[in-house]
Amino acid sequence: MSSVLDTYARKTISFTKGKGSYLFTENGDKYLDFVQGIATNVLGHCHEHLVKTIQEQSKKLWHVSNAFIIPEQERLAKRLTDKTFADFVCFQNSGTEATEASIKIARKYFHKIGKPEKNRIITFQGAFHGRTLAALFAANNPKHTEGFGPKVDGFDQVPFADHETIKKTISKNTAAIMIETIMGEGGIKVVPDYCIKGLREMCDEHNILLILDEVQCAYRTGNFFAFEKSGIVPDIVPIAKGIGGGFPLGACLVTKKVSIGMVPGTHGSTFGGNPLAMSVGNAVLDIIFARGFLDDVKEKGKYFDRGLKKIKDKYPKIIGEIRGIGLIKGLKMLVDNTEFIKKLMHQKMLAVKAEENVIRLFPPLIVNNKELDEAIYKIEKVCKAMS
Ligand SMILES: *Cc1c(COP(=O)(O)O)cnc(C)c1O
Repeated sequence: MSSVLDTYARKTISFTKGKGSYLFTENGDKYLDFVQGIATNVLGHCHEHLVKTIQEQSKKLWHVSNAFIIPEQERLAKRLTDKTFADFVCFQNSGTEATEASIKIARKYFHKIGKPEKNRIITFQGAFHGRTLAALFAANNPKHTEGFGPKVDGFDQVPFADHETIKKTISKNTAAIMIETIMGEGGIKVVPDYCIKGLREMCDEHNILLILDEVQCAYRTGNFFAFEKSGIVPDIVPIAKGIGGGFPLGACLVTKKVSIGMVPGTHGSTFGGNPLAMSVGNAVLDIIFARGFLDDVKEKGKYFDRGLKKIKDKYPKIIGEIRGIGLIKGLKMLVDNTEFIKKLMHQKMLAVKAEENVIRLFPPLIVNNKELDEAIYKIEKVCKAMS
């Protein structure tokens, strides 16, 4: 019997080695890994540059308190703010901490400008923002919240894609609207650009903040952030998963305007932003920022799309819809997604499920067309077996 608390329906398989797009079991079985730690290992397993970076940094310095200036942290924050809408970054260890920091920063801003009554956040059905109490009740998924009451107040939830209800829900107490640019756990539901723009307009009209949770989708669409192609500027963006390339790392990006309440003592994290994590975050950016890298992600995404579309056209009773942009993909299945994933595993390929009977595919961004072809081949094989 395992001594690990049984909070996951774990598969019995385990892995001892990883390289790029592949995972290996102890007896040498090789799996094509399109889970990648759930959208986390953006550069695949054991990327040379990350391995070298962490080895070198681990000989120099692992951890110092945020009570001191951490040069690697300064550098990562500068690179992130130079590249994006943000003026400041605060570093965390996970996605849920990054979304919690977002909520705190939004509330503190209105407190600071003398409008403390503006403290409620509008959120969306089907959202996922993490597993801490505020993040749980922000998403308010009964599967996750049951038994964890009392309910954390301060969130007003509305149906997905219902602008009229959002408008009606906005009150003098609303501080922010928080939404994932691409709803990950909810089934890789891309919020269309016109909706993101509409939300921005609503926020401007009512003096409220727009928080775009990019914990799952950042770096993956072929743009640095998924929201970029909508052309708008958000106020607060939490990121995590991919930004550490598999090392626990989260961050919350904010504009100067919104940051004004966050003065010394208002927030903190013992581990967040330590030299080891920061060196890895910087090493990930070395690759992501390399000329043409993200354009390549777009091209690979299109290539993958074409292959997936062919299978969907051939098996219209198995695959209902292809969702996602770049290398964050969802297949809405017309057969049971869990069963499909199980059969994919027999073909030595790993995928992860989401709500709405969706299968999520997260190739590492360093994937090549041959590996994408292999995925297409394996998915098609399972489609054939299930039809
Ligand atoms: C995974 C996820 C989180 C939570 O991240 P953790 O690192 O598991 O705490 C928050 N928001 C979104 C959109 C996510 O996908």
